[in-house]
Amino acid sequence: MYYDALVIGAGPSGSRVAWRLAEANLKVALIEEDSIVGEPCQCAGLVTPRTIDYLNYDIPILGEMSGARLWGPQNSFLEFQANETKALVINRPDLDRSIADKAVSAGAVLMTNTQYLGFSRIDSHLKVTLQSENKTIELETELIIGSDGPASRVARDAELQTSREVLAAFGGDVEGLTTKENHVELFVGSEVAPRFFAWIIPTGESTGRLGLATSLPSRPKKYFWDLFKKGAPSALLENAKIVNRISGLIPFGLRNPAYSDNVILTGDAAGMAKPTSGGGIYSGLVSADAAVDTAILAFQKGDLSASTLKRYQFLIESDFAKELKLGSYLRRAFVELSDSQLAEIINSLNDPKIKKTIQEYGDLDYASAVAFAVLKVKPQMIKFAPLLLKPFV
Ligand SMILES: Cc1cc2nc3c(=O)[nH]c(=O)nc-3n(C[C@H](O)[C@H](O)[C@H](O)COP(=O)(O)OP(=O)(O)OC[C@H]3O[C@@H](n4cnc5c(N)ncnc54)[C@H](O)[C@@H]3O)c2cc1C
Repeated sequence: MYYDALVIGAGPSGSRVAWRLAEANLKVALIEEDSIVGEPCQCAGLVTPRTIDYLNYDIPILGEMSGARLWGPQNSFLEFQANETKALVINRPDLDRSIADKAVSAGAVLMTNTQYLGFSRIDSHLKVTLQSENKTIELETELIIGSDGPASRVARDAELQTSREVLAAFGGDVEGLTTKENHVELFVGSEVAPRFFAWIIPTGESTGRLGLATSLPSRPKKYFWDLFKKGAPSALLENAKIVNRISGLIPFGLRNPAYSDNVILTGDAAGMAKPTSGGGIYSGLVSADAAVDTAILAFQKGDLSASTLKRYQFLIESDFAKELKLGSYLRRAFVELSDSQLAEIINSLNDPKIKKTIQEYGDLDYASAVAFAVLKVKPQMIKFAPLLLKPFV
């Protein structure tokens, strides 16, 4: 069987690609190894309002976040309250299914319970091997879109793997929480989540998502249980009960190139997650659209070689890659901070002028903007600038 394009992975970026390619009248199959799109959930489900605007259709919103509380080492603490909604809490599996439904409605063939195993080249075509239950399926295509997440097999097969930092995350849905309405709770420090942070995202009056990520060799599970048992600062978790667990990987580092002959990578497979927050839904959708625009032109030209697909790299580099790069500098500085330095920064941000700047510029998708705006208001912070230039370990 022949398809113009095979999209591997029905996460947000893959389903978006399949949806838009099918709308362009291409024959597309969307391959997903899990039996239900969106399950198991590996996400905290926090997105910017921009993400929903970008999708251009409504999905149910569980909560609107306009504030945050940051709990740091040595009892450092910071609270923000913006005048507008900064982030939305969504049901992530529903989001994934809604985009996959759009793809199917546009004419894409969705094959769940079907695992991509590899591809080989025959002239300018690809022969792709899939496995569904105990059956091996072979399909021919001109283009593979690897939207298969952090451990992308497509990236490996197309020899697009580059060394990058991968965080491990662990979390769970929690009942019996005491949090502040419309506020996300964040926890930093080497004892809580080495080299990253922990979060509580409220989903209802006393329910929420608790999670954290760490970079190896630190294991997130241990830190998660420590945080849970300790009850987090301010007794937020005192009466809490875990009702469901999640885990997953968060890769950092844009692949360059993220394409080769007849292959394009999107989303986490391409390294689109933001090094500041680990969020990758919005940036994954942006990369999906860049892949679609590139693919449509390549099909019109009748040339899906790397020399045509290189336009994809140009599109993502001129769009979101700048933010990814600035984010990676900020992350580089963040991982170098000692607990005392972190506490010092958090305490010094507790100044009305700076809080106003953070409230104004705070944007989960473009976190670097707020960091540089704060630097302008508080030039003394420049003393941490050399950390931006330290080699990443
Ligand atoms: C704990 C955690 C919390 C997070 N919280 C947030 C958040 O709040 N907000 C946010 O924006 N981002 C968050 N992220 C990041 C976000 O989940 C990812 O950036 C996003 O899912 C990337 O989308 P994607 O479409 O590229 O890949 P994915 O969503 O990972 O989808 C890849 C799909 O490919 C399938 N697949 C993989 N291999 C194969 C194969 N061989 N054959 C067939 N199918 C395959 C998988 O089953 C999966 O469905 C979080 C990540 C983690 C781990």
